Amino acid sequence: MLSKAFVKELSRALPGLEVRLAEPMSVHTTLHIGGPAAAMAFPRGDELEKTIAFALKKGVKPLLIGSGSNILAPDGELDRFVVVTRSGEPEIRVEGASVYAQAGATLAKIAAAARDAGLTGFEFAAGIPGTLGGALLMNAGAYGGEMKDVAACTVWLDGDGNRRETTGAGHRFGYRRSVFAETESYILSGRIDLAPGDPEAIRARMDELAEKRRASQPLDVPSAGSAFKRPANGYAAAMIDECGLRGLRVGGACVSEKHAGFIVNTGGATCADVLELIEKIQSAVFERFGTMLEPEIRVVN
Ligand SMILES: Cc1cc2nc3c(=O)[nH]c(=O)nc-3n(C[C@H](O)[C@H](O)[C@H](O)COP(=O)(O)OP(=O)(O)OC[C@H]3O[C@@H](n4cnc5c(N)ncnc54)[C@H](O)[C@@H]3O)c2cc1C
Repeated sequence: MLSKAFVKELSRALPGLEVRLAEPMSVHTTLHIGGPAAAMAFPRGDELEKTIAFALKKGVKPLLIGSGSNILAPDGELDRFVVVTRSGEPEIRVEGASVYAQAGATLAKIAAAARDAGLTGFEFAAGIPGTLGGALLMNAGAYGGEMKDVAACTVWLDGDGNRRETTGAGHRFGYRRSVFAETESYILSGRIDLAPGDPEAIRARMDELAEKRRASQPLDVPSAGSAFKRPANGYAAAMIDECGLRGLRVGGACVSEKHAGFIVNTGGATCADVLELIEKIQSAVFERFGTMLEPEIRVVN
């Protein structure tokens, strides 16, 4: 159990740090699901590293969240020390053809900074509603691009609180995975390498992709994006669609009518609803195609 003494000591060590007790996870996840977290911190600037390092020194493993756009949180109390990385205005700095950003910087803001500096290569990420940290861990990707193509150097803390730097192939990026998903790791910041380009062409590409997203995804309803990873033998959304599951509902959780790969919260959905719906989809797809879909949404506990 996360002790009150830990929270007191943390507040004493970092007096400016905002910490909330029993803060609902539903407020910090795009699915709008999740019960209260035992403690939640909102570090700004260099408080992020200090907060994580302090927790690790005290034997507490923090749960880092960015935009919470790929997370399913439990309905009951989450007995964890949650650290929200996107608090304040995480720094984004352009130097030459590289963009340096803190882990909590949103992909949208990084893409806008790159566009304004006339750098191309990050347009694919502009519409992914996550932060740099979450995107590096997930190797987020869309429309032919992925973090793997641009991530040059990542600064992170390991489980012992040691500062580490990973470059290039060391990221071990694969489809929606990275070395950070396999190791206890707390991403602090990253550098992405882009190329000079025409600002107007960059803007046009970003607008085009945003329009594609609006046309095909249920962006007006809470979701966590694609619920399942792409299996080796096809597309999850197409398989779900062929099973006739659009609109299938458990409680407030529903297979989106607009995009069969999305599970949406139509109002009052619980974690249990989403998990049951995931199982129903997996069973139906397995019976028809012999494929067990693997969830892309990460269940936190
Ligand atoms: C409408 C919608 C559309 C989407 N479209 C796409 C898409 O096109 N492509 C795509 O790949 N994804 C997509 N997603 C999913 C999601 O946006 C991405 O996976 C994104 O990269 C998650 O970032 P996040 O900051 O929200 O991470 P979170 O959901 O907050 O966290 C995800 C995981 O990363 C960990 N984590 C977060 N920050 C850190 C850190 N600093 N250090 C260590 N671990 C960390 C968390 O503990 C968790 O395990 C979409 C989601 C939605 C809601």
